Parts: sequence; C-alpha cells; structure tokens
Amino acid sequence: MNNIKLVADLHVHTISSGHAYSTVAEIIEVAAQKGLEAVALTDHGPAMPGAPHRYHFGHLCVLPEKEKNVEILRGVEANIIDKDGSIDLPEYYLNLLDIVWAGLHIPCFQPATRSLNTKALLNALDNPYVDGIVHPGNPEFPIDESTLVQAAAEKGKLLEINNSSFVVRRGSRTGCQEIARLISHYHGLVALNSDAHVARDVGCNEKSLLLAVESGISPGQIINSDLHLLKEFLKKRGKKRFINYKAGETAY
Ligand SMILES: [Zn+2]
Ligand SMILES: [Zn+2]
Repeated sequence: MNNIKLVADLHVHTISSGHAYSTVAEIIEVAAQKGLEAVALTDHGPAMPGAPHRYHFGHLCVLPEKEKNVEILRGVEANIIDKDGSIDLPEYYLNLLDIVWAGLHIPCFQPATRSLNTKALLNALDNPYVDGIVHPGNPEFPIDESTLVQAAAEKGKLLEINNSSFVVRRGSRTGCQEIARLISHYHGLVALNSDAHVARDVGCNEKSLLLAVESGISPGQIINSDLHLLKEFLKKRGKKRFINYKAGETAY
C-alpha cells in the first residue's frame, strides 16, 4: 500500500446540480470530519438538465473562503458542447472561479468518432480558463489517450482519475489505467477526485488513488496530495484568489 494522503477533493456536487443531494453545509461537515483541507464545489454547467443557471456561478462569492478549517474552492464542471471545445459558461463567470473543469457528458455532447472526441477535449484544454478535463477515461467517449495526455502535460493542465467512474461509468477502468500509465510516462499532472453527488462520498478517492499508485504516478504529480502544491498550481493558473499566495502563509 502507499502512504499518500489526499488533502483535497476537487470535484464535488451540491444540491444545485439537480441530481445531487447535499447542501454546502453538509459537504463541508463531511470534509471536515474526514480531515480534508480543501474541497471544490463544482456543480454542473448550465447545459446539463437540472443544473443551475449561470447566475449560480456568479454568486458563489457569498460563501466563506474557509469553514471548519476546510478551504472552499468555487468551481464548475463545465460541459463541452461542440467539437471546437466550447463550454457552457461565459468568460465573465469563468473568471470569477477558483477551478474550472471541462468534460464530455451525453446530454450536452453526442459521442462522436475517436478523432472528434479527442479534438473537442484538446480544444477545451486550449481555453485559458479551463484547468483540466474530468473523467477522460469514460468509454462512452473513446479518445486518443496519448494525444490528450501529452497535450495536458505540455500545457500544465490536469487530467482527472474520477473515483465515481469505477461505479457509475461502467467500463472506465481500461481507459483510466491507460491514462494513468501515460500520465506517469509523460510526467503530467493528475487530480484524484470523488465526483461526489452526496455528502458521504466526499473524499472517497481510494480506487483512483490505488490506480494512480499502481501506475507509477508520483505524489508530486497528484495535485490534491498537498495543499501547497494545489495552491501553487492555482496561482500559476492565474486564479485571482491565489495570485498572492506564498508558501508558508496562512492568509492570502
Ligand atoms: Zn452529475
Ligand atoms: Zn461531476
């Protein structure tokens, strides 16, 4: 076994997503109980049926930055809506957020050829606000894993190994294994996330962590294995909240 402890969960849904069932307060409570140092609230972008209006993402400023010793990151799981990699939240809102995920979801993007799916992800990675791609191992959207992993590594962006993929996206293991192997090979960055849709799943990342370790991914590549690593990443990504972050500071 390994001794890596994940200190943050960077992909969590609140009741605002429409098919998730816990409030912000419930999520923070569980995160605190489990000893997490940060949690990112990443509700689905507006194109997903039942997801919040874009105003939801413009008003996350009312949430505290920290509660019960858990840093609350304001984020979105944006939907890629075409092969050009367009996402369903305008720049104005993306600019307010601490973390922006983009991903392919069936209601918003019809699975296409391997080449077109890959193109859509590569184009989304070119969006300066997008920090990473969620569940790229999803077999519903076959991709050229090597091209994606190399592109993400070159741009210093994240790919996710999504713990829920092993439960809700059947057949994801092969794709996730290949992506993890390539991330290790190309020295890319990875986030190991729960994609919790209910509070009790917050911080449940055992399967994705095991896969990462088995694939030879080092702790320095796992962005949520260390709060300093995470904040440095978000600073480098130009996120306003972290722009003045310096190692060792508690306030920023
Ligand atoms: Zn969802
Ligand atoms: Zn999600």
